[in-house]
Amino acid sequence: MRTAAMIIAGIAPPQAPGCNSIGRRLADLTSHQCHFPLRGEGAETRFCAVEVSPADWRPGASGGQYCTFHRCIVVGRGTPAERQAPRVLERLG
Ligand SMILES: [Zn+2]
Repeated sequence: MRTAAMIIAGIAPPQAPGCNSIGRRLADLTSHQCHFPLRGEGAETRFCAVEVSPADWRPGASGGQYCTFHRCIVVGRGTPAERQAPRVLERLG
């Protein structure tokens, strides 16, 4: 069983289905490749590097530089107040 401590330590990191790569260093990533860190530290950190479609590439948004698999891991439902925010904004309209 994978624990949060194992993921943080880079042991058995969550990898996108079908991806058996050891990942790429940041300097080796090309545009639109997943920036989810898998293992390693500093300049030797390895990132997922699965291709992300231009439509899904949203730098600045939460998980915006991650593949669909890793975006689902890091983006949660939000707090109740966060989920209510769109309705509040509509009322203030
Ligand atoms: Zn990824």
